[in-house]
Amino acid sequence: MDQSEQLNHRAGFVAVIGHPNVGKSTLINALLGQKVAAVSPKPQTTRRNQLGILTLDIAQIIFTDTPGLHEERNKLGELMNTEALSALDDADAILFVVTAETAPTQEDRVLAKRIYLSAKHPPTVVALNKVDRVEAEGLERRKEEYQQLLEAAQVVPISALSGRGLEELRAQLITMLPEGPAYYPEDQVTDLYERQIAANLIRESALNNLHQEVPHGIAIRVDNFKERGDKGALIEATLLVERESHKAIVIGRGGEMIKKIGIDARAEIEKMSGRKVFLNLRVKTRKDWRDDENVLERFGYGAKKN
Ligand code: GDP
Ligand code: MG
Repeated sequence: MDQSEQLNHRAGFVAVIGHPNVGKSTLINALLGQKVAAVSPKPQTTRRNQLGILTLDIAQIIFTDTPGLHEERNKLGELMNTEALSALDDADAILFVVTAETAPTQEDRVLAKRIYLSAKHPPTVVALNKVDRVEAEGLERRKEEYQQLLEAAQVVPISALSGRGLEELRAQLITMLPEGPAYYPEDQVTDLYERQIAANLIRESALNNLHQEVPHGIAIRVDNFKERGDKGALIEATLLVERESHKAIVIGRGGEMIKKIGIDARAEIEKMSGRKVFLNLRVKTRKDWRDDENVLERFGYGAKKN
């Protein structure tokens, strides 16, 4: 038996923080391998952006962005914005990415202080990146400086570019997560985030085009989402309505309405993801989908029932 099979499964959210250009994106891509779609949707689309999900036999790590924490590097006040702070408190663990090229800055001190002040004290790992850029002696000094900054954190030297230290970093992250089952099924992982966005945009287009005729009694289920390289993404989705009469309205005379909804939604999804999209929409009646917990879940409505 593989040793890893004796361990209990772990799963959780890891908040990724760090200044621009320290290598956060490079690192996440390296950790995820080919598992993440190379798109960067508009950051304001969701409150807490998912950067990617790493699903392994023994663990599922959901990396999340913390908007506002590292974008306003010259305004210490902005570093403290409430939303960013609550994202830290929500996290099961914090991945603080820094570059080994420079000593901790004043902003790093602010972030470090914030991590210590957070209500839940999520365990923290400092990924000391770009070690390929410094010689051994300098690296030792950097390690000490960051260890002093965050005494309770693990400092792991890495190079997101060369891959050095990534195995160790991944193992470290896993030990910091709570035991529990995966949040997302493996086959949904790669495109989960884009699926959610696509569903939202289709719904938005439907509501815009329909005006008040089918008020909110509409939900979107993304049935298929395929990356096809140069041919663009293929997205097949179903618009679920509550009544047969609504179905007729959504389809429209001669299919005009559903066509319009599709054209607008496709334009928005393409704008968002920066590549070609083929969108196939269907309409189905499904009574009482609003009372069905599973359906709500699948549509990403979460607890927001109404
Ligand atoms: P982000 O702004 O924190 O997401 O940083 P990026 O991932 O976009 O990386 C910024 C720059 O640093 C890019 O040019 C990367 O190629 C480079 N970079 C990232 N990791 C490393 C590393 O380990 N070593 C070196 N030498 N360069 C790196
Ligand atoms: Mg980035």
